[in-house]
Amino acid sequence: MIVDRPAPKDFERQSIQYLIQSIDLITSNDHKDEDIEDYEVDMAECWKYHQGILNNSLTLLFLSLENLIKKEICKISPLMLLADEPKKWGGRTSSKKFSELFILQFDDLLALYQELGLGKISDQTASKLEDLRKKRNQITHGVIEDNITPQYILDIFYTLMVHIWGPGIWWTQLKEHIFNEPLFGIYDSDHEKASVTTYIEFFVSYLGNKRTGEMLGHNLKQRNYFCPECHYWLNHEWDVTDSKYAILSPNTPSSETLFCVVCSASHNVERKKCQEDDCKGNVICMEGRCLTCFSEQDYR
Ligand SMILES: [Zn+2]
Ligand SMILES: [Zn+2]
Repeated sequence: MIVDRPAPKDFERQSIQYLIQSIDLITSNDHKDEDIEDYEVDMAECWKYHQGILNNSLTLLFLSLENLIKKEICKISPLMLLADEPKKWGGRTSSKKFSELFILQFDDLLALYQELGLGKISDQTASKLEDLRKKRNQITHGVIEDNITPQYILDIFYTLMVHIWGPGIWWTQLKEHIFNEPLFGIYDSDHEKASVTTYIEFFVSYLGNKRTGEMLGHNLKQRNYFCPECHYWLNHEWDVTDSKYAILSPNTPSSETLFCVVCSASHNVERKKCQEDDCKGNVICMEGRCLTCFSEQDYR
């Protein structure tokens, strides 16, 4: 008998951890839009020097994908992940731990994933995956042929999130993982919840609103408004950053519902002209703030 078999949730947890780490490696070393003491940072040069960080990021992204595929196959049976013939598992006479057995290689997992109909992979996505696999192999073999850039990793990230994970799914998993962290909320849970805004900011800076929106399953190309919750909590003690990723849903001139892609909450809004002279906004939240310029409205 094969014992201690993994569940799909185990692979999902690993997959999302690798995914977050892959991104964090870039965000924590990226100073793209910052000037350090008036010195303009040439990030392209910095990243050429720090190829090791990008290699690790790419490897983690690959591991994340591999675990996602394992998770899907595991939903049918974890035994399908095993590489050896069943008679060689050695579980017939005594019990054997799942972790002592060999698991299929990535190519086999991918073939199985497709043959079992667990996900469709277009030719375009397949060629991106092939490129990722080649680069990852180069890293493992210590013979990297090209210079890897954050843009390359983010482009692959986009393809994976839209075409393999599926729009929005990764975002829900990412937030769940961050919000369940034992240290989460020790300082201020509302603030920390809103702080995932910085991930969206980061994606927008590399992929633009359109592609970031596609990854989230929402149209970020339409006009963006401040989220009354996220923006408030992010800046209530000191200014951290704008959280302006809320959109009208439906996107009509009389629409009174605003949906925030960061916190996934819908907010009721009033449609009336902002009182600031130089603001053309007409979306006001129930707390009486214009969600275009965030100024407080005075109705007395
Ligand atoms: Zn929000
Ligand atoms: Zn305004």
